Amino acid sequence: ANGIMAGKRGLILGIANNRSIAWGIAKAARDAGAQLALTYQGDALKKRVEPLAKELDALVVGHCDVTDGATMDAVFETIREEWGGLDFMVHAVAYSDKDELDGRYIDTTEANFNKSLYVSCYSLTALAQRAEKLMPNGGSILTLTYYGAEKVMPHYNVMGVAKAALEASVRYLAVDLGPSGIRVNAISAGPIKTLAASAIGDFRYILKWNEYNAPLRRTVTPDDVGQSALYLLSDMGRAVTGEVHHVDAGYHVVGMKAVDAPDI
Ligand code: NAD
Repeated sequence: ANGIMAGKRGLILGIANNRSIAWGIAKAARDAGAQLALTYQGDALKKRVEPLAKELDALVVGHCDVTDGATMDAVFETIREEWGGLDFMVHAVAYSDKDELDGRYIDTTEANFNKSLYVSCYSLTALAQRAEKLMPNGGSILTLTYYGAEKVMPHYNVMGVAKAALEASVRYLAVDLGPSGIRVNAISAGPIKTLAASAIGDFRYILKWNEYNAPLRRTVTPDDVGQSALYLLSDMGRAVTGEVHHVDAGYHVVGMKAVDAPDI
């Protein structure tokens, strides 16, 4: 509400519905004065994203599937035509076959390993390649990751491996794009009940575990992530790049179960 994003134009990928983390970030950026462009993945989500875009006065740039380079090209071409440039981009995209977000990591198939890494990790680089061309005066790129990249979390499996590679990509991209004034960061969000998260086995247990054991004794919301995203997307974060910033009610600092944690 304080206008820190005034004059900034941003592309946000990854809104599926009003529970998406990307939606929390979009609302915060809009409230702070940003102008937004949104994409959706396929016709099923178009129906959900269009009314949400309207709420934020955002441009709907159309279908974008990160496994289809032509759809990414089309998005950036539209942005070039409409705006002539871009100040920030939010990548809130991940995918793994639901069957493999349960049980043992070792059982991951080659096909799902490739698809999960491609959609959840390579896509950031593929999008950054395109965004760089529209950010001649610098910019800010933000992606979303999870603690399962750092420590083994139940059922997270191949997504944990993909997020570890994503976090490494953030560092490599930060070095490549730094001289152009483009910053690249990640937010490591605590667990939130979204469409993507509902694919993860025992997710309710994971939420409760975080609530009972995080220093702040709560889970986080897409709006919490949105507030922290403002720091990284705006000039408040102008000297921050290559960073993985935890927005998890402090969960990542804890070494063992809280002594007062109830049974789940
Ligand atoms: P969500 O289901 O609302 O969003 C996931 C998005 O990924 C959807 O909009 C979907 O359309 C998009 N997507 C999947 N495959 C795609 C493809 N091939 N091309 C284009 N888009 C594609 O769920 P979310 O939890 O808001 O997820 C957003 C990001 O946050 C993901 O990277 C996720 O891993 C990450 N994250 C989520 C949590 C959590 O607990 N929910 C925690 C930490 C990080």
